[in-house]
This record gives sequence, structure tokens and C-alpha cells, in this order.
Amino acid sequence: MQDNATLQARLDEFLRIAKANERKQINFQECELDLLACTNLIDLLHIILDEHKVRFQLTDVTLLIHDPEYEFQRLLEGEKDSPSWQPKLLFTDSVQLINQYFSTLRKPRLITYSPHQHAFLFPDQQDLGSIALLPLVRGNAVIGSLNLGSRNPSRFQSDIGTQFLQHLAAVMSACLENVRLQEHIKLVGLRDPLTAINNRRFFDQRLGEEVSRAKRLKSPLSCMFIDLDHFKRVNDQYGHQVGDAVLKQVAQLLNERLRHNDILARYGGEEFVILLADTDQEVASVIAEQIRHLIAKTKFIISNGKTLQQTLSIGLATLTHQSDIHDEKSLIAKADQAVYAAKLSGRNRIKRSN
Ligand code: GH3
Ligand code: MG
Ligand code: MG
Repeated sequence: MQDNATLQARLDEFLRIAKANERKQINFQECELDLLACTNLIDLLHIILDEHKVRFQLTDVTLLIHDPEYEFQRLLEGEKDSPSWQPKLLFTDSVQLINQYFSTLRKPRLITYSPHQHAFLFPDQQDLGSIALLPLVRGNAVIGSLNLGSRNPSRFQSDIGTQFLQHLAAVMSACLENVRLQEHIKLVGLRDPLTAINNRRFFDQRLGEEVSRAKRLKSPLSCMFIDLDHFKRVNDQYGHQVGDAVLKQVAQLLNERLRHNDILARYGGEEFVILLADTDQEVASVIAEQIRHLIAKTKFIISNGKTLQQTLSIGLATLTHQSDIHDEKSLIAKADQAVYAAKLSGRNRIKRSN
């Protein structure tokens, strides 16, 4: 009788453990599917830093990325809103810094939290009991570390199996590398290689979105067409390379002058375009005049101390819910006509379409 009861109790205990393991496995599998489905960096970081914390009932999750060329940091720079996980995302340009946590083994480390050694990995938390540090490895390189923190001192101990965690780290490394490549391809396709600003393809995509937004909100949207004056002469007189150098400097000056939400692109050879959301024609005219003046007074460096001056003409058109400009096509056409009028009336000036 007694034996039966003991046996039954043992069996129940085994079943309980088996069920707990099954739940754990399902949880890991769901998490893996979410990671694999991710195609952009922001979503991936959200899953890693926010969702994991809830899903695995952790006190803190941080991610340290080896980013020696500032690639990830640049990708995130363009993000308008600073997401809540930003302080949990750490960057380093030193692979030694990551390696110091893993020695040569590159296996997950489950250890007691020490403020002295680990405060860098968990800048927001002091009251952790135990932590798991998972090296993220691609090929032969360590690309980062995922850091899980728990208040519970016995949650991560060295005698606990690390198979699940090792698997999770492998999937996460592959996903991080995958979104990095995808984002890189997107950027290359939408950026002008000479000036490093947006290209026309990017502009065409954004134009549609901005026109719809302006119509929906009944807010004005201004468009500036910019064409450098007599630019052919620069090439003829100084050579194509000097022309390129001037184009780069103009792009840089325009970029520096604009506000965060303004959209600047190289539209063609020596033509640039700027979209100003929520900006009426009066304000756009003031900005256009500042740009005209800035370029006209700049001494562009061409070679060994020599400089040249360059002017530009600007055509301005504004879409409002009252004007006859009500779609992408008419906005572009009107700005283009206006820049043509600016050329005809003497260059180095601004013309408004309405
Ligand atoms: P306008 O004041 O009427 O605009 O005169 P322009 O000489 O600027 O006008 P046009 O459109 O006739 O010529 C534009 C010139 O810009 C032609 C080409 O030599 C030069 N250009 C276009 N793209 C590039 C480029 O990528 N690099 C260089 N160096 N020159 C370029
Ligand atoms: Mg031109
Ligand atoms: Mg020109």
C-alpha cells in the first residue's frame, strides 16, 4: 500500500516536471517563430528586449551589440520616436569587451549578479540576483551578447542546463544578422551613392505617403525643387570631379539646414528636392530664401585652397486642401514649372507656383 502511494507520488512528480518542460519548450518555440518572422530591426529589438522580458518573466533583458562601424547605430538614428528599450541596447566597438564575459568557451554563462562586474550590462538595474549571459556568435565572430537578469538568485545557476538558451542565442544571432543585411539592402537601394542623401526612388515612395497624410489631416505640404545654376560650367571649367565635390557639399549643407521631419533627396544630376510636411507657402518661402542665401555665400572648396561660388534656383509649390494642387503629380509639376520660371527670370532666386 505504502509503496503504491510512493510510486504514485513519484509518477505525479515526473508528470509535473514533464508538463513544465513541455510548457517551456512551447514557450521557446513560439519565441523562435516570432524572431524568425521578423524583417526589420525595430521589430526585432522590440521582441528581444520587451517581449522576452514578459514571456520569460525576467527582471531585465539587455542586448550588447558589437558595432565597430556604427552600422546598427546609424540604422536606428533615423527613428523618430525613441522607443522605451533604448537604454537596454548597448553598443561597443571592442570585441574584447564582449569576450571578457565569455573567455574562450563562447557558451552561455549562468552566474550570480555582481554589481562590480555586470553593472555595464544592466545599466538600469541594481537589485538582480542571478544573470544569464548568452554570447551571440556568427561564423567565428562574436557579434554581441544577450543578457538576461532575474531578481531570483537561484534562477540562473551554473548547474542548470543551457541547451534552450544556447539554441535561443543561435536563432537570435542569425536573426540579427539577417535584419542587418535586409536593412542594409534597403538603404543601398534608397540612397544616392555620391551625396549619401536619399535618392529619387526613396523620394517617390515618401511623396505618396506624405500627400495622403497631408490630405487626411488637411495640413499643407510644401515641395521645393532645387536646380544648381549653370552647373555645366563648373564641370567644363574645373572637371567632373570638382563638380562632384560641389554636389556633395551642397547636399551636406541642405541636410544640415533641414528639420528632422523634412525629406531631402537628390532628384537627378544637379537637382534636389525637399518636402516640408505641415508647412505652408509662407514658411516654405522663408526656408527657401535661407537655403538660397546659405549656398550663395558659401565658398566651395575645390582643391589646394581654391574655392568657387555656386548659386541655385528654387521652385516652390504647396498642396493645401483649398488649392488646385491636390495630388503628387500636380505638386511636382508645379514645383518644376516654378523652378523653370526662376531660371528664366535670372537664376539665384525663388519662384512660387501659387
Ligand atoms: P541651368 O542654370 O539652366 O540649370 O544650367 P545648368 O548648366 O545647370 O543646366 P543643365 O541641366 O543644362 O546641366 C546640368 C549639368 O549638371 C549637366 C552635367 O554636366 C551636370 N551634372 C549632372 N549630374 C552630375 C554629376 O553627378 N556630377 C557632375 N560633376 N556633374 C553633373
Ligand atoms: Mg538641371
Ligand atoms: Mg542646373
